Order: sequence, then structure tokens, then C-alpha cells
Amino acid sequence: MDRQQEFVLRTIEERDIRFVRLWFADVLGGLKSVAIAPAELEGAFAEGIGFDGSSIEGLARVSEADMIARPDPSTFQVLPWRGDPRSGGVARMFCDVLTPDGEPAMADSRNVLKRVLSRAAEKGFTFYTHPEIEFYLFEGSPADSVGDGRRPGVAVHPPVPVDTMGYFDNVPGGAGQDFRRDAISMLEAMGISVEFSHHEAGPGQNEIDLRYADALTTADNIVTFRTVVKEVALQHGAFASFMPKPLADQPGSGMHTHLSLFEGDRNAFHEPGAQYELSTTARQFIAGLLRHAKETSLVTSQFVNSYKRLWGGSEAPSDIAWGHNNRSGLVRVPRYKPGKAQSARVEYRGIDSAANPYLALAVLLAAGLKGVEEGYELPDEAEDDVTRLTSSERRAMGIEQLPASLDHAIALTEASELVAETLGESMFEFVLRNKRAEWVDYRAQVTPFELQRFLPWL
Ligand code: GLU
Ligand code: MG
Ligand code: MG
Repeated sequence: MDRQQEFVLRTIEERDIRFVRLWFADVLGGLKSVAIAPAELEGAFAEGIGFDGSSIEGLARVSEADMIARPDPSTFQVLPWRGDPRSGGVARMFCDVLTPDGEPAMADSRNVLKRVLSRAAEKGFTFYTHPEIEFYLFEGSPADSVGDGRRPGVAVHPPVPVDTMGYFDNVPGGAGQDFRRDAISMLEAMGISVEFSHHEAGPGQNEIDLRYADALTTADNIVTFRTVVKEVALQHGAFASFMPKPLADQPGSGMHTHLSLFEGDRNAFHEPGAQYELSTTARQFIAGLLRHAKETSLVTSQFVNSYKRLWGGSEAPSDIAWGHNNRSGLVRVPRYKPGKAQSARVEYRGIDSAANPYLALAVLLAAGLKGVEEGYELPDEAEDDVTRLTSSERRAMGIEQLPASLDHAIALTEASELVAETLGESMFEFVLRNKRAEWVDYRAQVTPFELQRFLPWL
């Protein structure tokens, strides 16, 4: 046993932990959890815990059902919302998913990210990221809007936000403020540092920004964040949703993510004297993000509903452009502060709060690295609001657009060598299969829009 594993066992004794939850993400980024008794832990570290992978969406074919979850002791955390003096505490660890031979499972998204990170590490780079996570707080529960399957035939109507406030509004005595305070305390108690939080532009919409961390930690943190926020919302009698565009006439929930590469302690994106103090590496990285944006979109915006956000205005990007302090395109270079080497970074705006963070960060890093490896040329920056351009102006400036629908995104990803290589064959196939099925189900719908528009006159 190594020192980290010993630390976990000791903490479990000292804090009277009775259950250890082993966590991993399925292929869409949903959290899976199995609880084990502390006595099982030594074995779990040594050999992992077996489970039936074929029951979990996308993890394995029926023929390779046996899978193993092996906990990563560096991710051990006590779950603050489960502390009950009578029953003892509960803790969690993220797991790597392995085949029975102990090889990384092809469909483990955490492993997909690890693979790209080690490719970056071979070139001397550490990938740092910080997400701005937006989400809505709604009254009651999702069943109030859509039923819950046990009560079929419930009329479907949009969820009701918990307040009617907007961007940066301070809601006196508001549910949102208490909620954010409680959520942040809980995140901090789990070792997840929060940098900012505020009311976002939509009614009931909030944003919480996590402090930057290496990409694997960020992805683990995002999965934890979504669970914590849902738990705390429940405690406040509300429910939190990370759906990309829950309300047609209100802003969607993006997860803008700030990206940078470090070489040791040095920010490889920073170069004193260069334009915006952005190094050649940074410019090539941005060029990679832009050039591969259409084919990576299926991963960063993975649901039918994601495209409603991207094309619904409200500062969600549809144009593949970059600019300094320009929030209208896909990549923003935040206003730079001269000499502030550590903070040189780029903000990728084309990712939403419902993404699988492991896969999304993996394809963004792969796209950026490709730009660096191949020395891509960065196109001219956009200085004005690119959403106002006409299509001929766009063509003249060479600005392309993100796919307009899931269907379009699927077609672009099918043809992508970069995504295929990054995800690996099985994961690539699974994602495509899953998304095609979603599109086919969606395409079969006759929507309220169609009835309202066509029934009266057709
Ligand atoms: N809600 C917007 C989005 O979906 C972002 C608003 C902002 O700039 O923070 O991307
Ligand atoms: Mg925001
Ligand atoms: Mg932002």
C-alpha cells in the first residue's frame, strides 16, 4: 500500500466513515456510484471492485460485462452533506475503470482525458483549466414540469425559476443567495475552491466559477460540483438544472472554460512584449481550437438541446472567431493585465454545463495541441460583435459557424480523425451511436411549435 492509500484508511478510522462511495462517470458524464464498507477498501485498492459494465450506458458490450472500478486515493473526500452522528460519515473516491486484465477500459472517459494529458506532459506541458459553471434554480421538482414516468399524461410545461432577477442582481433575503452560500461552503469543505459566484442573466440562473486546477482535477471537480449543487438545491426545496437551454426565451447555461498550458512554473501562453502578451504557443493553441471547433462540437455540446443554446443568442457563441475581450465569438482572450504572466489564458465559450467534462477537456486539449504541433496560423481577430455580421461579411472574413443542430454536429464528428484518435475507437463509436439514437428520437417528435404554427392554417 502506498502513502496515499494509508492516509485514506487512517482518515476513515479517525472520522468514523462507515461507507465509501466509489464514483466514476459514464460516457455522457453522468455520475455512477457504488458504496462499499471500509473493510473492503484494502482489496479495492489492490484489485478494484468488480461490477457489471454492460448495465451502464456505453461502458461495455454485453460480451465484456465484467469491469473493475479501482479507487484513486488522491481523490478521497468526506461528503459533508452525509454527516450523521448516528450512522457515521460517508466519503467518496473517483475510480479508474479497468478491464478484468487490469487494462484501462476503452470507454472510461477519465482515462481518455488522462491519455491526452500524458501526451501533453511528454511535450513538457501541464494543462490548467477553470470553468465558469452556469445553471438554473427552479421551484419544486422536475416532475412538476414533465411528470416522472410514474404519473404519465402530465402536461409538459416549462419549469418555474425561483426568482425574477438578472445579472449580478443582489436578491435581498433571496433564496439564491442563501443557496450559493451553502453550496460554496459545501464545495470548499470538499476541497473545491470557488473563485466567484453571482446571479446570472436569466431568472433563477446562477454562476459559480471554480479556481483553476489541472484538467483532471477540474473534470473531477465539475462532476462533484453538479452533485453538490443538486443536493444543496434539494435542501432549499428547489431543484438545480444544468440543461443547456431550459427556457426558450432566456439565456442558456454555458460552461465557459479558461485554458492555459504551463511548462513547469512558467505559463507557456505568456510572452512579454507580444500582442496581448500572448505567446506563439498560445496563438497556435487558439488556432487549433478554432480549426477543430466544428468536429469537437459534438463533445463540448453533446445534446439536442445544446444547439438551442448555441443558436439562442444571449452571449452563447455560434461564430468560430476569436477576439481580445470580445464576448461574441467562440474564443475570448480575456483583457490582459501587463506583466501578469500567470493569468494569460484563453476562454472557450462553446461548451455547456451538461458536457462530459473529461471528454470535453480531452478534445479541447487535443485540438489546441494539434495547433501547436503543426504550427497553425491564427486567423485575424474579430474586433466587433460577430453575431451581427451578414453571411457575405462572414464569408469575406473567413468566419465559419458551429454546427446548427445535433444532426449536423454528428456528421462533422463522424469525419473527424482528431476526435476518433482522441476518444479511441470504442468511445468514438459509442458516442456516435448514442447521439444518432438521440437524434432519431428527436426527429420523430411533433412539437408544440409545429402544432401552434401549422394546425390553424394547414
Ligand atoms: N449564458 C451564456 C452562455 O450560455 C454566457 C453568459 C456569460 O457571458 O457569462 O454561454
Ligand atoms: Mg456567465
Ligand atoms: Mg465567461
